[in-house]
Amino acid sequence: MLSAEPAAIPLAGGTDIMVNWPQRLSAHAATYLDLSGVGDLRSIRWTDDALVLGAMTTYWDVIEDAQIAAAFPMLLDAARQVGAVQIQSRGTWAGNIINASPAADGVPVLMAYHAVVVLESADGRDEVPLAEFYLGYKELRRRPDQLVTEIRIPRRSYRFHRFEKVGPRRAQAITKVGVALTEGDEGWCVVANSVAPTVCRCPTVERRLATGELTGPNELIEALRDDVSPIDDIRSTAQYREAVLARLIYHAAQDATSTPNTTRQ
Ligand SMILES: Cc1cc2nc3c(=O)[nH]c(=O)nc-3n(C[C@H](O)[C@H](O)[C@H](O)COP(=O)(O)OP(=O)(O)OC[C@H]3O[C@@H](n4cnc5c(N)ncnc54)[C@H](O)[C@@H]3O)c2cc1C
Repeated sequence: MLSAEPAAIPLAGGTDIMVNWPQRLSAHAATYLDLSGVGDLRSIRWTDDALVLGAMTTYWDVIEDAQIAAAFPMLLDAARQVGAVQIQSRGTWAGNIINASPAADGVPVLMAYHAVVVLESADGRDEVPLAEFYLGYKELRRRPDQLVTEIRIPRRSYRFHRFEKVGPRRAQAITKVGVALTEGDEGWCVVANSVAPTVCRCPTVERRLATGELTGPNELIEALRDDVSPIDDIRSTAQYREAVLARLIYHAAQDATSTPNTTRQ
């Protein structure tokens, strides 16, 4: 159906699409493709080397799954902090990826676990690492005729994982600044949100954490300036975002050396 009408808009939980429905009358004339009847998109499965979330997997599906929480604890942390229970039970991880908000909470944890976005169309299948999926603000490596069908999260060993969301309150809050970090055999992965046009990795910080060069929050602020470009907006200031992000990473790095929370898969 999507290949016949690529302008159609896939509808998953509708928690982003429907927000402005009463005001955005032009949206009423668009064609929507309801994905709720595609049962295969709802599956959660484990392969030898990955956890595979079907595109209709919701935050609540993850909250209820003890095996996922044990292997990928940041997925549980993020799911619990998205909206409140109504949003958690309808909103999907794939919708969070495609909505492409710089403040998305699902995207940073998936990216820090090296997730891969699986896209399918009538022409075949593409796999794009989530860290390479965003080309700029709301610019994605997805053609209009492609559906996200799965999100693949490789099984890897991590010695440390941490997700931090800073907002004005603990529920129903849009992130002012956030970060997801993992540390494992392949080094650090540091992913920041709300500090750049897209959720993004921080390669300079990752390299310098690996060499043990970053000894204080002020040095972290310097390193972060290579990786992110926070702005002043209605929710916060660039200066606050930079200072808080540096402190979150600093404390996580300190904790990683003293109390690693190992998971082996
Ligand atoms: C009150 C409220 C609180 C919220 N709180 C948070 C929060 O704390 N943190 C946060 O990150 N977000 C939050 N959100 C935003 C939203 O809930 C999430 O981004 C959610 O993950 C979107 O998923 P969905 O399934 O509802 O997407 P939808 O609204 O159905 O779709 C979102 C976008 O993804 C596209 N899409 C969906 N599925 C596919 C697919 N399989 N293939 C291709 N395209 C697809 C749609 O066409 C659309 O462009 C909140 C929203 C509300 C209304």
